[in-house]
Parts: sequence; structure tokens; C-alpha cells
Amino acid sequence: MKVIKLFSDILVVDGFQRSLIQDYNRKKTFFIPLELSDLIKRYDGKISINQINKLKKHKQKNIYIEYYEFLKENDIIFIVEDSLQNLFPKISKKYELPFNIDCLTILLSNINYTIIYKAFEKGLFNTIACFSITCCDEVHLKDIHALIDIISRSEARYVKITIQKDRHLTYKNSLLLIEYIDISIKYNFFQEIVYQIKYPKFSNIFALYIESLYYNPYFHKQIFIDYDGAIKNTPETEDVGFNIKFINKESTFEKIVNNSSLKRYDKITKDKIEICKVCEMRYMCINNKVPQKKGQYWYYQTSCIYNPFICKWADDENFVPIEECGYFDKSFRFVPDYEKIDLLNKTIWGDKE
Ligand code: SF4
Repeated sequence: MKVIKLFSDILVVDGFQRSLIQDYNRKKTFFIPLELSDLIKRYDGKISINQINKLKKHKQKNIYIEYYEFLKENDIIFIVEDSLQNLFPKISKKYELPFNIDCLTILLSNINYTIIYKAFEKGLFNTIACFSITCCDEVHLKDIHALIDIISRSEARYVKITIQKDRHLTYKNSLLLIEYIDISIKYNFFQEIVYQIKYPKFSNIFALYIESLYYNPYFHKQIFIDYDGAIKNTPETEDVGFNIKFINKESTFEKIVNNSSLKRYDKITKDKIEICKVCEMRYMCINNKVPQKKGQYWYYQTSCIYNPFICKWADDENFVPIEECGYFDKSFRFVPDYEKIDLLNKTIWGDKE
């Protein structure tokens, strides 16, 4: 008997109002109705081609055949002998990454330059593979060159330097990426720029999916050193009292970055954050907002510009803000107004019946 099977590297994620299919190999995303997601989950590897053919007599045959054709045309499913199914095991969702810190971000200034340079010299950052260094306008080009030089002699695999566009770095190195930006870089650069990010970033990468199941990918394995040497989780998180100027040994630095105050948001996955937990894009979304906690619930202080209850973006026609789709109760749990959401969806998308 031949059965219909979903490709192992294609995953289905359900949201409040619709689901999405993430095809990691071909980097494609398909939005599908919840009903189709339910059918995929129920019948993956269990329904035969003959059964599909018999659907012709079923009262909902048109819609089922349409679903089947859609999945087949887009290479989301394949047909295989039932006895060979074991050759196509489910993809592992175990999370394993070797580095303690994925990326160290530094806002390089005249205040922290010497400390940072010495930290590289002493091998404090030896186990970090990626660096993102944003250079304040005041830092002299020759100092930046000297710093890149010392990083190039370390184990670093990737270095991104962000610099104001009128200043030119001549240094060339295969691990170096230079980003020129057309605004001044001051001490409050991240407050000015990062906080203005309107849209979350999306990426259809399997590693992000896996990380998002267990961790918040924006905060997890990230460390930031501010213009004055303060060590934080990211530019948006609070100063927890560590400063690079007091650290002389790699082992001390390791201990500090493993301190729980710098890992506070690591495990606050989107599944734990109100509203995001019902968003179909929660495993492909990187959002720099710091989650807040009241009672037992995590939430974002400002609403997302995507409303998963009606599947609309803020600049779409018919957009309705999330606040109009329910309310936060006393414990800061978001309680959806099902009746209103249903009505809104019928008005926006039409009646499914
Ligand atoms: S609601 Fe917004 S921030 Fe939350 S997962 Fe969806 S797109 Fe990302």
C-alpha cells in the first residue's frame, strides 16, 4: 500500500487563526488553514492514495482534493510504500550548539577602547566565535585597525564592524564584514536605533526553529558591552552591575556571562509570552523587545504590529489592534474575545461556511 507522507524537514506550526508550513530546505513558507494543519497531523503516513481517490464520494471532497493537490504541487508531501516509511524518520528537535556565547556585541568608545583591547590581548573572549563591534565616531580609525588586527589573530570566525559611512576602513580580511551607516554613532546609539525597530525580524532557518522551542533567540547566548564597559545581556536589557574593566581572566569572564542575571530572558520563549504564544510565526520571529512579567505571565509592554487573531499587519487594510481582540486580566493573561474575533474575521476574510 502506498501512503502519503510529509517531508521530514517540513514542519507545521499552528497559530490562533491559521497555520504555517515551514519548508526549511527550500526556504519557503506557506500559510494554510488550521483545518489543513489538523488533517496533516492526523493523517501523515496513515492515509493511502486509494483513500484519497475514494474521497470523490465524500461531501467535502472538493476541499480535500484541493488540499491534496496543493500539498503535492508544492512538494510538501510525497508518496511512499507503507513498508518503507521507517526510512524517513522524523527530524530530531534536540538543541545542541557548542558555544557558550554566540555573539559578543560591543559599543566601542574612547572610554572602553583600552579595556576592550586588553581584554582581547589577555584572551578573555577566546571562546567566542562572532563579534559585532559598533564604533562610536570618536574612536580613531588607527585604533579600530589595531583592534581588528588583534581579533584576527584570535579564534574569531566572524567579525562585523559598524561604522559611520564617511569614515573608511582599509583593513581587509575574509572574516571581516564592514557595515557603513549614514548616521552618527554616539553613546546612545542603541537606544536611538534599536528601540526604533518596528518590525520583528523573520527567518526561515531550522536552527532558529529549534532554538525558539527552548530559548528566546534574541537573548540567548548574547552578551553586550556598553560604551562604559557595562556588561549586559543585550543593549535593551538592564545594567546588572558587571563591568569589563574589573575582569582580568577568561575564567572570570566565563563565570560572569553565566550569571543568572545575564540569562534572565534566555528561556522566555515565545510560547511563554502572551499573544506571541498563539502566533503562527513564533518559531521564526526575532524580536528585540524585553519581555515583562506580572503575576505568572510574560508579556510585551507594546503590542506587536502583527495581529495573530486576525492575521493582519498594521499597514494592512482592515487592521485592528490586538487590544481590540481581548483584554489583559488582573494577572496579565491575555483573554481573547472569541465572539468579537470571530466577527472581525468574518468581516475581513468572509464567512467560511
Ligand atoms: S506576535 Fe509579533 S512578536 Fe509575537 S511571535 Fe508574532 S510576529 Fe513575533
